[in-house]
Order: sequence, then C-alpha cells, then structure tokens
Amino acid sequence: MVAEAERRDLNVRVAGSGHSFTPVVGTGGLLLSLAQMSGVRSVNAAKKQVTVAAGTRIHDLGVALKGLGFSLINQGDIDAQAVAGAFITGTHGTGIKLPCLATSIAGMRLVKADGSVHVVDGGNQELLHAAQVSIGTLGVISELTLQVRDAYNLHEHVWRDDFETCMQRHDELAATHRHFGFFWCPTPQSRHMYCIADTADAPRSTTKKTADVCEMKVMDISDKPAMDTPFEKIAYSSEIYPMVYVPNFHELEYAVPVQHGKEALRAVRELMLTKHTNCIYPVEYRFTAGDPAWLSPFHHQDSIALSVSGQPGLDYWDYLRDVDAILRRYGSRPHWGKMHFLDTDDVTALYPRANDFRALRKKFDPKGRFLNDHMRMLLG
Ligand SMILES: Cc1cc2nc3c(=O)[nH]c(=O)nc-3n(C[C@H](O)[C@H](O)[C@H](O)COP(=O)(O)OP(=O)(O)OC[C@H]3O[C@@H](n4cnc5c(N)ncnc54)[C@H](O)[C@@H]3O)c2cc1C
Repeated sequence: MVAEAERRDLNVRVAGSGHSFTPVVGTGGLLLSLAQMSGVRSVNAAKKQVTVAAGTRIHDLGVALKGLGFSLINQGDIDAQAVAGAFITGTHGTGIKLPCLATSIAGMRLVKADGSVHVVDGGNQELLHAAQVSIGTLGVISELTLQVRDAYNLHEHVWRDDFETCMQRHDELAATHRHFGFFWCPTPQSRHMYCIADTADAPRSTTKKTADVCEMKVMDISDKPAMDTPFEKIAYSSEIYPMVYVPNFHELEYAVPVQHGKEALRAVRELMLTKHTNCIYPVEYRFTAGDPAWLSPFHHQDSIALSVSGQPGLDYWDYLRDVDAILRRYGSRPHWGKMHFLDTDDVTALYPRANDFRALRKKFDPKGRFLNDHMRMLLG
C-alpha cells in the first residue's frame, strides 16, 4: 500500500489509536490503521525481548506478557494506545530512574516510501536513537522489538496531602519509591475531572482539606499476594498502571528539567489560582529519567512531566499560552502527542539533534511522503 501511495503521489500517515492531542496523525493522502496487525510475533527469552506487531494495543500486550512471564518496564496512565503510536511520541509513566517507554525499543521494522523494508536494531545505535522517538516520519513501523523484564507485581498507595506537605516530601518520595507522581487539584471538583478516587478518608491522608490538595501516588515492586482496598492495591504490573478517564480533556504537557520542577509547578499553580480560576483540571506531575533518543522530550535530561488540561468547549487558549510561557523559561520540551506551541526554530533550539534528525529523515524519505503539515513545520 505504501508503494502504491508513492505511485499515486499520495502522502502516508499511520493512525495508532488516535489518542494524541496534536495533529500528528492526519493526512489528505493515505491514512493507514494497523489495528489488525496485533499480537506478539516472537520472544527472545535470553535477551528478554519480545517482537510485537505495531498495532498491538498496550493493554493487549500487557495480557500477553503476563502469560509469557514478562512485564513492560514502565507504563503511562492509560493502556488504550497502539504500541507504535505511544512509544514513538515519547510516552512515559512516572519514576525518577525510569526513562520514557521509547527507550525500551530495541529494534523495529520500517516500511520506507518505496515499499522496501529497513530493519533498525542495536547494531546501529545512532539510527536506533533517532527512530525511537520519530513520530511516524521515517516510515511505517510494522513491528517493534521491545526490551521487557521478568513479570512483577506493583504495590500502589494513593493518599491526599496538602500542597506544602507534598512540596516538602517531593525529593524523599521520589528517591524512595520506584514510582512517585501526583495530581495537584485546585478545587474539590478537580479530581472528578480526571476520575481520581476520593481519598478524603484514606488512612495515610494527613489532611481533611478538600481544596488546593495533592492526590499522591507511589508504586513499588512487591512480592506480596494481590490485595485491593480503596487506596492500596497489589497486582500484576499492567493491571496497576492504567487509570480510568471518563470526561474528555485537551492536555498540554512539557518536560521541565527536574531541578526546576517544583518552581515551575508553583508558578503554574499561582496562575491558576489568580488568573485562570475557571481552569480546574488537575495538574499532573510525574518524573522521567533522561534518555539518548534524539527527539525524546527527556533527551539527556531528567525531567518532570508537568501537564495541564483545557476543558473541551471552553476557550482555554490564553490559559495554555500562559502555561507555555512559564514552562519555556526552564527550557522545557513538549510531549509530541500533547498540545504545545513550538515552531521550527523552537525545535532546533530545544533539541540538540534536531538538525541531525531532519537530515536523516530526508535521507529516508526524500520526498516527504511521511509528513503532514504539522510534522513538516516541526521536522521537515
Ligand atoms: C486519556 C489519555 C491519557 C494519556 N496518558 C499518557 C501518559 O500517561 N503518558 C504519556 O506520555 N502520554 C499519555 N497520553 C498521550 C498518548 O500516549 C500519546 O499521544 C500517544 O502517542 C497516543 O498513542 P496512539 O496509539 O493513540 O497514537 P496516535 O496518536 O494515533 O499516533 C501517534 C503518532 O504515531 C504515529 N504512528 C502510529 N503508529 C505508527 C506506525 N505503525 N508507524 C509509523 N507511525 C505510527 C502516528 O502517525 C502519529 O504521528 C495520553 C493520552 C490520552 C488521550
């Protein structure tokens, strides 16, 4: 189909599961869905690597890995995405020592514009690091080889603390747990906008405040048997990571260098409490370790992934622009799948390997067959 698109002079993009907030998918040409290309294709038990079809949903991969005695190293807040779609935008979970999911890509099979196949593997580290976060601009990925680890259970604790307690315990909680992250909720309604459980009476809660609080979550590897109370749970890794989101939201997220995380959050909080008081979606605050992928928002930079959301139907643009202005002060880089205001020059300034990537992209796809307007502006 890719070769046929070339013959008909059509651009090509692939839809994962359509969970990106940015126009990274659309095309007026050929839009492919690999949803039917799903499942584990092979397992290398010695290397702890699995090769999966690119359209496999993360949820389905978790189920398959559990059966194989493996787990993904980390996951994000939902598991509805296609593996390729999620991993190649730099999707991440939380954990000060855990890099984004793309770093577990050990290889991939890429269909190039002329329909030929290029295999990327660890033999060419430069190409691997370019391809790990490439937002569909090098070709169609038909399968991915992922580094996994032996299956593990996670023990999750959720509780509520007031904002200052959270700030005081920030470093300690990040250092002493495999995963630590929190949502700051400016109003009592805020947590419902993200379907966060009401932890008011949670045993570890130190406050009964309902406004301006942080919903805190830690997760650690556990060998204890499964348990499930309202605010504590132990289960297989992939059954712990995902949350449930029901209401819709439009999210902006930037990776803030970790040393500026608390200051950036304080500035965003002040903005929400004083200027944009109608913007009440929680702020999500997560940790991600730096990695070598050329276009990773965490490129060689341990970071805080700080996100805010606008309510669909409201004019939230002034709010998002104000948040963008704050986060830019720290040299923060956006999540490619979440709203941002970057242009060509910003990408060049923020990503030391941006021009290397553009040159490589042109080598792989000289006619820009795999670009759309948005990707051409950023990486063309
Ligand atoms: C409710 C919600 C929760 C989220 N939670 C998190 C989170 O916890 N952490 C986080 O980091 N992000 C999160 N995200 C963002 C999300 O993980 C990313 O936007 C991700 O890219 C979406 O995956 P997808 O399968 O929907 O891909 P799409 O949005 O469909 O595609 C993403 C990109 O990948 C390309 N692509 C997809 N498949 C292929 C392929 N086979 N070959 C070549 N290119 C391909 C597409 O063309 C596009 O450029 C969340 C989003 C939502 C809506």
